[in-house]
Amino acid sequence: MEKQDNFIQENSLEQPDMMIYHTENCTGKIELNVSRGICLSSTAHNCFKIKTQGEEIDSYIARISRNIPQEEDCEKFKDQFCCENLRSCYESGNSSFAMSFFWGSQEIQDFHVLKASVELIHSSHSGEIEGILYFNDITGDFLAERMPWMLYHKNFKEIAIINTKRSVIAMDSPDNFDVSMYLNEEIDYKTYVEDLIEKTVPIQEREIFRRSTEVQTICKELEKKERYSFTIHQINSDGEKRLKNFTYMYLVREFNLVLVATEDITELSGKDVLTGGYNRQGFIRHTRSILNNCPDKTEYAVLFFNIKNFKVVNELFGIETGDDVLRSTYVELENSGLQPVITARIEADHFTCLVERKNLDFNELTRMCERKFTKDGKTIHLFGRCGVFYVEDKPMRVDCMIDRAKIAKKYITDEYVQPYKIYDNSMKDAYIDKAELAGELEDAISQGQFKVYYQPVIDASTGKVASAEALVRWIHPEKGFLSPAVFIPALEESGYISELDLYVTKEVCSFLMNRHKHGKPIVPISINLSWMDFYDESMMSWILNDLQKCSAPGAMARFEITETSYAAIREDRNNILSSLKNLGSKVLLDDFGSGYSSFGMLQNYNFDILKIDMSFVRQIETNPKTRSILGFIIEMAHEMGMQVVAEGAETKAQVDFLKESSCDFIQGYYYSKPLPEEEFVRMLEESFE
Ligand code: C2E
Ligand code: CA
Ligand code: CA
Repeated sequence: MEKQDNFIQENSLEQPDMMIYHTENCTGKIELNVSRGICLSSTAHNCFKIKTQGEEIDSYIARISRNIPQEEDCEKFKDQFCCENLRSCYESGNSSFAMSFFWGSQEIQDFHVLKASVELIHSSHSGEIEGILYFNDITGDFLAERMPWMLYHKNFKEIAIINTKRSVIAMDSPDNFDVSMYLNEEIDYKTYVEDLIEKTVPIQEREIFRRSTEVQTICKELEKKERYSFTIHQINSDGEKRLKNFTYMYLVREFNLVLVATEDITELSGKDVLTGGYNRQGFIRHTRSILNNCPDKTEYAVLFFNIKNFKVVNELFGIETGDDVLRSTYVELENSGLQPVITARIEADHFTCLVERKNLDFNELTRMCERKFTKDGKTIHLFGRCGVFYVEDKPMRVDCMIDRAKIAKKYITDEYVQPYKIYDNSMKDAYIDKAELAGELEDAISQGQFKVYYQPVIDASTGKVASAEALVRWIHPEKGFLSPAVFIPALEESGYISELDLYVTKEVCSFLMNRHKHGKPIVPISINLSWMDFYDESMMSWILNDLQKCSAPGAMARFEITETSYAAIREDRNNILSSLKNLGSKVLLDDFGSGYSSFGMLQNYNFDILKIDMSFVRQIETNPKTRSILGFIIEMAHEMGMQVVAEGAETKAQVDFLKESSCDFIQGYYYSKPLPEEEFVRMLEESFE
């Protein structure tokens, strides 16, 4: 038989790569010979299969079209994909097109959205028009596209799809809402609602919640208007009562798919559910309005209170008593001689008041800060602290006033002597707006505001520089010299730290490379990694792909990680520990002994060097137990094949003890503070003479 006639042969089409690529994940693929009007073969397990090899295209299309419930779409599908149209499209130069439609039966509510595509080519060996027709399930994309925009703007906590006809619901959170999965994940709607009621709805509101969420109610309301919503309280997993708004709207009306989104509007309401007073938003709104409408703002002060060790109250006496304490604190503040204009609980055990300065009696304030709370015959002593901000005669946002009062509170040295502090501008230097810092980061990097300092690490037996730690400094054009202890946590909190760490890594590598190229002495430099770095693609890929090229002998760059990276390492992000080792870089476990997972880290991962936290070194002279612990840690590390660095040695006595205890390396002010590059180089070269 001649090849040309064997139209059934597999791969008879000369499919260009593009076509193969397009059809890779499709639900059904049919090869066509348009010139002859027949289907050649199909790759599909389901209803897309052709009946027989050689089935007519038109009869195939007619059969398939029965699954398109919407008449209009069905007709259009037949028109578009009938053999005659395929032929004339091809001849008029239109060799590929597609159409999307609902798919499935409205009776059983089996809902999908499909896209049918056709691609036509002229076969060079048969001289005929051939092509492929393929179907893709685009239900997920379709639903995602249908999701109303407001869902992304607002702070919706949960989104779900209810099929009101079949009374089932599919749930997910908006961050990872994979709508394409929804059909597989559905649960019985009634069971779901009852479970939700049981777990979250306060008893008094259960009946109304039940009624409001009934399928009939939802459908009836959605007949009347586009959106239906109601508000109810729910108790969250922390036992906190929150105000929730439920909103319903049709997602695909034809298939009875209703979208439900819940939003936490506790803050918006301005009220604190626990105390019945204002919450943060409420405080800000009302304070703003009072200050904007008074003749002299400077007659007011903003107070920030918190209860010392409130956590302990919760732990010792239970959450219920904790709640009672918070309520009573609110009531006492509200009724105190300070006569606050506005009292609010802005979060947890943090309270704010707007008071008139003429009522700001500091004896009363002191009395307020020391209270007794009695319940069931038990008495708890409560100590509060209060920061005071005098409102100034210049525009300032209320949340900045709260922040300033809060900063002042941090300056209280001894609450038993004076439990309050008034904000003054010298405190401003310490006032670093975290969000602001994060926003400045990119410019700061490009303008060279960051400088890498090097703190030498000394070989305990020779006294020579053995290595160094890279510590970053921010020379801020307005705020001056910023301590990493301030901006590192701020950048971690806002998620920008990796950008900086990558910068530091590159700087260190180019420093090493430069010296290496010129044949100058170098020592290994260690770089601090933040736990976030393990989740940062560009950081990881730079370390894994570019580090070796850029850092002289790769082994010269080392990495310090702390136990905060435990989770990231456990997830084995990029296999990072072993990859670093393969590159020849040593890995140090930093701040050993400062947290809770130090031993877990040691047990599960291999480190080359252990850095003993400064807090131990500090106590060498004063605490005999510390001396034993240190001796023990060093011995243990050696036994496990690690070397030991002790950090933060400041005195000769500390250094002597560490040397006696066979500590390998010592880092600390006793030898040197972190130095700018030039000074470090000087010290390094002296050490090598
Ligand atoms: P760390 O990694 O534990 O760094 C040691 C800190 O102790 C440094 O503070 C250093 O200046 C200080 N120090 C060293 N010797 C002594 C001493 O004898 N006495 C005292 N009192 N302090 C000593 P620094 O430079 O302020 O850094 C603070 C922390 O900021 C570092 O703690 C590290 O966690 C973080 N950090 C610094 N640079 C970077 C960086 O480039 N990336 C990341 N992710 N974190 C960094
Ligand atoms: Ca470190
Ligand atoms: Ca450290």
